[in-house]
Amino acid sequence: MRTKVGIIGGGPSGLLLSQLLHLKGIDNIVLEKHSREYVLGRIRAGVLEHGFAELMREAQCGERMDREGEIHEGFFVSHDGIKDRMDLSKYSDGNSVIVYGQTEITKDLYDARDKMGGKVVHGALDVKPYDLTSDAPYITYRQGDDLYRVDCQYVIGADGFHGVSRKSIPKDVLKEYEKVYPFGWLGVLSKTKPVSPELIYAKHDRGFALCSMRSQILSRYYIQVPLTDTTDDWPDEEFWAELKRRLPEDVGANLETGPSIEKSIAPLRSFVAEPMRYGNMFLAGDAAHIVPPTGARGLNSAGSDIYYLYHALVDHYENGDDTGLETYSEKALARVWKAQRFSWWLTSLLHSFPEGIEYDRRLQDIDLEYLFTSDSAQASLAENYVGLPY
Ligand SMILES: Cc1cc2nc3c(=O)[nH]c(=O)nc-3n(C[C@H](O)[C@H](O)[C@H](O)COP(=O)(O)OP(=O)(O)OC[C@H]3O[C@@H](n4cnc5c(N)ncnc54)[C@H](O)[C@@H]3O)c2cc1C
Repeated sequence: MRTKVGIIGGGPSGLLLSQLLHLKGIDNIVLEKHSREYVLGRIRAGVLEHGFAELMREAQCGERMDREGEIHEGFFVSHDGIKDRMDLSKYSDGNSVIVYGQTEITKDLYDARDKMGGKVVHGALDVKPYDLTSDAPYITYRQGDDLYRVDCQYVIGADGFHGVSRKSIPKDVLKEYEKVYPFGWLGVLSKTKPVSPELIYAKHDRGFALCSMRSQILSRYYIQVPLTDTTDDWPDEEFWAELKRRLPEDVGANLETGPSIEKSIAPLRSFVAEPMRYGNMFLAGDAAHIVPPTGARGLNSAGSDIYYLYHALVDHYENGDDTGLETYSEKALARVWKAQRFSWWLTSLLHSFPEGIEYDRRLQDIDLEYLFTSDSAQASLAENYVGLPY
């Protein structure tokens, strides 16, 4: 097989780039290790920056998002039994975020790829990129007993944190930065009415909690748990009781509970790999960086990578201008590190650290007090939460 752009990974990063390039007539192929059902079964992000939403519209995939997604102009932070509201719109020149699940985004992207006859190979095993520093890189993969080869001009590594792309960069070229947090998030999805029309980030001595949603009949809740816990340690009743304890009384009293339809634990980690380009391979999304989900930056950072890559590839193919490709890594990383800083800050502010000393706890308290008494602090939070400019 021969194509211009070979994309490894059929998650949101790979599919979005594939769709955008296709619309510009740039031939590409997506190689995804898992089945479509598996990819769509992963319950992950739900809060979209306006820039990401704009990119979905540009990809002609924004119609359902605009119809079914919910615009949120603020969120709450609860602490010490009270709730403070963060007015995103007021502090970011009328900007907002859209609450629309990653599963739905991925589904919309797959549907669009299907409609346009996009090439997405599922069950592509043992994917491996070769000759990345040459003008003729290629990717091999296996399906059953059959081996395939994709010749291309550029390889995009959009295969998530555990993918093969980043690992193909020689160790003396790649630099990795990592911070592992001493806790995880236990997430529950339930067919219940969300306890609040806007998200609630709850700081509590027993641990952080988040009340989020996917729609008005589908709630997504999280609680901070020790890394040693498994989902077996958390039958539904105990999850709901613990969530209630971490919310202000009036909120807990209105919490609608029900059977969980998905339950999983995600460890919290910050990670960045540099550079995001090696020869003619470009990394995008979780393949190059991940953040704790606290600030909802993961999928959104993937979106900014795709924005830069898409424009760089279009400039290359339409105008013969390689500036975008040459500066991709630098540009993408500049924004990625800002998202890292924001996610680290919000995580540090709101979680209970098992080894934390009294001094750190006092700093968290004063940071929160400062936040909700300073217009500048709220403007900074809002600017980062709705998404920094590309
Ligand atoms: C619990 C949780 C909650 C989150 N909440 C938020 C949130 O609210 N907001 C936010 O912005 N982000 C959030 N994120 C992060 C967000 O889900 C990720 O940043 C996003 O999925 C990144 O997309 P991606 O396409 O880069 O990577 P992925 O979604 O990981 O997709 C990579 C794809 O590559 C495939 N693949 C892997 N290896 C190979 C291989 N060797 N060959 C071929 N294919 C391969 C995988 O199967 C996968 O389909 C959350 C994440 C988690 C875990």
